[in-house]
Formats: sequence, structure tokens, C-alpha cells
Amino acid sequence: MAFKDRIVSDELKKWRSLHARMVLTEEERKYYLNKEKGFEGELRFDELTEKLTGDQIILNDLLLEVNGVTFQIDTTIIFQDTIDLFEVKNYEGDYLFKQNRFYINSELEILNPLDQLKRCQTLFRQLLQNLSFKIPVEGRLIFINPEFTLYNAPENKSIIFPTQINRFMKKLNSKPSKVNGTHKKLAEQLVSLHQTNSKINMLPNYEYHQPQMGISCASCHSLMTSVKGTKLICNVCEVEEKLESAVMRSVWEFKLLFPDKEITTNSIFDWCKVVPSKPIIRRILQKNMKSIGIGQWSYYEF
Ligand SMILES: [Zn+2]
Repeated sequence: MAFKDRIVSDELKKWRSLHARMVLTEEERKYYLNKEKGFEGELRFDELTEKLTGDQIILNDLLLEVNGVTFQIDTTIIFQDTIDLFEVKNYEGDYLFKQNRFYINSELEILNPLDQLKRCQTLFRQLLQNLSFKIPVEGRLIFINPEFTLYNAPENKSIIFPTQINRFMKKLNSKPSKVNGTHKKLAEQLVSLHQTNSKINMLPNYEYHQPQMGISCASCHSLMTSVKGTKLICNVCEVEEKLESAVMRSVWEFKLLFPDKEITTNSIFDWCKVVPSKPIIRRILQKNMKSIGIGQWSYYEF
């Protein structure tokens, strides 16, 4: 079990919501789908690290800062004698390696993931030094997607290709390790240093009335939903959800997209759109939130 879980970031949640609710530019759409794909790759790698049976500490997704520089590590595993950092790439299709550079479709240069990994290792070492913790740091670049090919691949032990992952995980699993209180203390320190609010967010611009209103389906994110009695039904994938939980999910989404807007019966009634009456919304808000003020100026807080 991981000491720190991977969760869907607020940034990705916002993108998911906006993708369902408004027309994105081609560039925005690409950026969002890349994010989604990267996250999917990280989850795939989590499935593998979850199977490790040895004595180690797994920290998923750390966003750290050292001497004013921010860096992110997909997976960090603390073993007895080393700390292994993993950069996971869910690249799919044909890539080319030429003169220390990575290309997609043999012409479009992309950021060199090996450089990214090196940067991470250097910054992480600096952080360990600041924390007065001495332990070797190893870095691995994991290409998780079985459909990935790298032409001209360099012979580099830091890179784990899809055809090597199973063997690599076995090797990792047989690594002798016994972690102690010092390792645990370091893990706790790293989690406490984890930043939940990334400053490197990129989001499309949107105004209050731009995102389409309605309750999205919890499963497929479609807005083609309707209310039947106390249930929300998706007209695309037919998944059913209790109306109360669907409304509260929408309240969270509303709060995420419009942090400055007040949560009121009216604003949530408009936002949900498909709920037939305001008293239903009021009842759900009163049950799940704290009501502030009275009458028409009252609003709700968590
Ligand atoms: Zn659905």
C-alpha cells in the first residue's frame, strides 16, 4: 500500500469539467488530452508498484520545492539503501532518438525526458541535503505504454522500455530492503512538503456564463443527464446516481470553477439545470452544508 496516494489534481478536475462544458481550442484540447494520458500512465505504473511485496515506502506524485525551484516526481520509492525516483511516460507510437534529442514522428522535437529526470534527481538531492539526509538517489524513466517504440534507442540503464518492465519490477521486488524509523520520518517530511497547489497550472480563460450548465455524469462526464425521482440518469452510458450525491458533486465542481461565487439555492439551481425544483436543491444544501445568514441573502459553506 502506498504511503501517499495519487489523487486527481484540481487542475485535471477543472480541465475535465471545462472539456465537458465548453468548446476548447485545438491547442487546449491537445494539452488536456495529454494531461489525461499522462495521468492514465501514472495509474498504470501504480498498479505495478502496488504489487511490490518488500519493505519499502511508496510516495505517489510529489510536488516539491527546493531553493525556490519547483519540481514534480511521479513516483518516489524509499528503500533501505537508495531512493528511486520514477518519471513515467505514457508515450504511444513511434519516436526517434537522435543526438541526445527525442523526436515524435521523426521530426517534431519534444522535451527530452532524460533531461527532465536528471533535473528531478539533482533537485531532489539538494532537498535531501537541506533535510540532512544522506542516501544515494537513483532515477528511472519508465515508458509504460506497450505501443511505444523508440528508434535508435540509447543504451541507458535509466530507461525502462515496455518490454523490460516486468523484469524490472521483479528486480525491484527482490531488492533487499528493511526501512526503519528514519526512513519513515523522511517520508513524512516529504509528504508535509508536498505542495497541493501547483503554480504551473495552465487553464483556458472562461467567464461565469461560458461553461454549459447541467449535472455531468459521474462515469462518462457527459452533460446528457436527466432526473427521475431521486436519481440522476445518464442518457449516454445509462449509469444511475443518487440525486443528492450528484448535486453535491456539482456543488464541488461549481466551487472549483468559480471559487469567488457564493453557493446559494439559486446559483446551484441554475448550475444543475436539470433538477426540477428549488426546494429539492435547498433541502440537499441544508442537509450537507452549513447555512450562513437568513432569507434571500443566505448562502452555504462546507
Ligand atoms: Zn454517462
